[in-house]
Amino acid sequence: MKQNAKLNIVLMGPPGAGKGTQSELLVKEYGILHISTGDMFREAIAEKTPVGLKAASYTNAGLLVPDDVVIALVKERLSKPDCAQGYLLDGFPRTIPQAEALRELTKEIGRPVQAVICLKAEPSILIERIVSRRVCPTCGASYNLLSKKPKVEGICDNCGGKLVQRKDDTRESFATRLDAYQKSTAPLIDFYKKQGILGEVDGLQDIDAVFGDIRKILERS
Ligand code: ADP
Ligand code: ADP
Ligand code: ZN
Repeated sequence: MKQNAKLNIVLMGPPGAGKGTQSELLVKEYGILHISTGDMFREAIAEKTPVGLKAASYTNAGLLVPDDVVIALVKERLSKPDCAQGYLLDGFPRTIPQAEALRELTKEIGRPVQAVICLKAEPSILIERIVSRRVCPTCGASYNLLSKKPKVEGICDNCGGKLVQRKDDTRESFATRLDAYQKSTAPLIDFYKKQGILGEVDGLQDIDAVFGDIRKILERS
């Protein structure tokens, strides 16, 4: 594992682009903290916490959870001392107000975002990935019936957990999520380009090639 205490990054991209998959590899390689707002909402919903109760109707429909709810969640997480090991934000920010809040939050903790990686992929490929995705609710690992099968059918390689299909991984919900990405999240590409910290990666390549491109960007930032 490479030690890189100063690696503070954002991973963005449409649903199914490979954020979760690449996050697993980045965490293994760099030992940084993985902060996935999607995973945090799924846990909060399973545990029926106040945040979970607020978020469930949005996530089930494929709609973005309101900014104030997401920002409060990330603020609390980033204020914990383990962020000193470097952080990887997966799926946050997803709107301009979230990106502005993140700029303030990271300034307050003295750990600004150094690089934003945007994974790019065609909708026709994304939908196929989404409907064949299976996930481990225990450790968050992502598998695919076509491209990334677990060693034993239905079982997580990492932790032995039972794999499930996400409730929102349907064709209908995908269409809503892609629409939300294009309207609310895609404007972040210009936002971060202007700051000179955006790196774009072709997410249609195989998993290792995508990871290789991300590593190259991180090594020069
Ligand atoms: P995201 O977190 O961006 O929604 P995931 O990492 O969960 O995306 O990937 C979506 C699905 O596509 C998963 O089933 C995953 O195993 C698969 N996948 C991820 N990256 C690739 C790739 N480069 N090529 C083929 N399949 C991939
Ligand atoms: P995907 O892997 O398909 O990109 P995620 O697991 O990141 O999706 O997120 C699942 C759902 O959680 C989203 O569809 C949305 O409802 C909610 N969510 C996650 N992160 C955010 C965010 N930053 N802002 C608003 N809603 C979010
Ligand atoms: Zn697992």
